[in-house]
Amino acid sequence: MGAKDVLVIGGGIAGVQAALDLADQGIKVYLVEKGPSIGGRMIQLQKVFPTMDCPSCIFTPKMVAASNHPDITLLAYSEVSEIKREGNLFLVTLYKKARYVDEDRCVGCGICENNCPVDVPSEYDNGLGARKAIYIPFAQAVPKVATVDLDHCVLCGVCERVCPAKAVNFAQKPETINLEVGAIIVATGFNLYDPSKLEQYGGGKFANVIPSLTMERLLIPNGPYGAVVRPSDGKIPRRVAYLLCVGSRSRNPINGYPYCSRVCCMYTIRQAQSTILNLRKVEVDVYYMDIRAYGKGFEEFYRRAEGVGVRFWKGRVGRITEQENGNLLLRAEIIDGSDSRIVEQEYEMVVLALGIRPQHRALAKLLPELELDDYGFVKTAAPKLDPTTTNVPGVFVAGVAEGPKDIVDTVMQASAAAMRASAYITNL
Ligand SMILES: Cc1cc2nc3c(=O)[nH]c(=O)nc-3n(C[C@H](O)[C@H](O)[C@H](O)COP(=O)(O)OP(=O)(O)OC[C@H]3O[C@@H](n4cnc5c(N)ncnc54)[C@H](O)[C@@H]3O)c2cc1C
Ligand code: SF4
Ligand code: SF4
Repeated sequence: MGAKDVLVIGGGIAGVQAALDLADQGIKVYLVEKGPSIGGRMIQLQKVFPTMDCPSCIFTPKMVAASNHPDITLLAYSEVSEIKREGNLFLVTLYKKARYVDEDRCVGCGICENNCPVDVPSEYDNGLGARKAIYIPFAQAVPKVATVDLDHCVLCGVCERVCPAKAVNFAQKPETINLEVGAIIVATGFNLYDPSKLEQYGGGKFANVIPSLTMERLLIPNGPYGAVVRPSDGKIPRRVAYLLCVGSRSRNPINGYPYCSRVCCMYTIRQAQSTILNLRKVEVDVYYMDIRAYGKGFEEFYRRAEGVGVRFWKGRVGRITEQENGNLLLRAEIIDGSDSRIVEQEYEMVVLALGIRPQHRALAKLLPELELDDYGFVKTAAPKLDPTTTNVPGVFVAGVAEGPKDIVDTVMQASAAAMRASAYITNL
């Protein structure tokens, strides 16, 4: 522990990539993740544009490599509670939450969760499916150990009795861990725009108006329902609408933030194609302002979606009204050349491409001197030529914590941040 070690905060693809790049150079890394497993948002996705790779297939090997690397100490289910500066060192205090399961004993067999009587909405399935009060968040979780969610546990003791490894331990206490590091990489990722703010789209109350992350889970064959069905009644939808830029690119603060969330056009095009390929007899409409297909292979990907039958409507949806049967009536202004017209169309399900928001509150508390931009993303000192260095010497940033971006750009920025952090500690 010391000035030659690095702390990485956040175990999404940005944090995992940065940790691996540092550790592969022989640098000791502490990788801290607040959730019970590393993986971040990428591990929740059905596929990734434009290659249509399966995210778990390409990401799980990296997650496992990070947890097995001799120079990476993985501290999942932990949060940084304090960072102090002393000379060249950052003195870091971590709070390791109690899982009420002994990580060294648990073999990840899942017998406890199969016997636990309590169902809780699954975070991994974005609230759609259920997990148990003792749970392993998903099949490829790293570390693959159970965690007791004490807020929902009824203390029946069943898990303790059935565990063959005697790993359940309700006497476990949270731990405080003190670290000394020379550099920090912030890779805390993102949240999505809160749909309850959007009264005109039902304020999050219409069962069949779902966020795009929920659609990711519905499109996965082994997802919560094993099929794309409407949450209200389990019916297979025959007309699905996707709305782009929800909470993004708005000049009116009531409807969101002015910036572009960068990934929504492309993941919506992917989801729209997958919806058609999955359900076959379905009409899929995308309402958009512009399609920003800016990356390598993106324009071709967009054209392919048109080829499989996705219809694109240039315009803005002003209001969604819920019908008695759960269908949704959309009122939109459609731009047609230099003309515009108001249309009303009925759908059985609507997917909102919610804008990307930073997880900045924890950071503002831990590193108050760290400069954030107007929207709460971490500001870089030289956005053009040094896009990972922050205003705080020794603190670097990677991934969506710095601004909305896709996985390719996240991985590149993470490797760049690792390089900068490595050079920084070498010169200390
Ligand atoms: C619906 C949807 C579909 C998408 N589809 C695609 C696609 O097809 N292709 C593509 O390239 N990109 C896609 N993206 C974008 C992709 O998800 C991101 O590029 C990627 O997840 C960014 O990784 P990250 O590590 O920066 O952030 P995240 O994935 O958000 O990971 C951040 C991690 O940090 C942890 N964390 C946060 N705060 C703290 C803290 N204080 N202490 C400890 N840990 C913390 C979080 O728990 C999380 O595990 C999609 C995004 C969405 C929303
Ligand atoms: S706590 Fe016990 S029963 Fe549950 S996964 Fe771990 S070893 Fe299996
Ligand atoms: S003690 Fe809690 S976690 Fe264990 S089986 Fe009972 S309800 Fe589930």
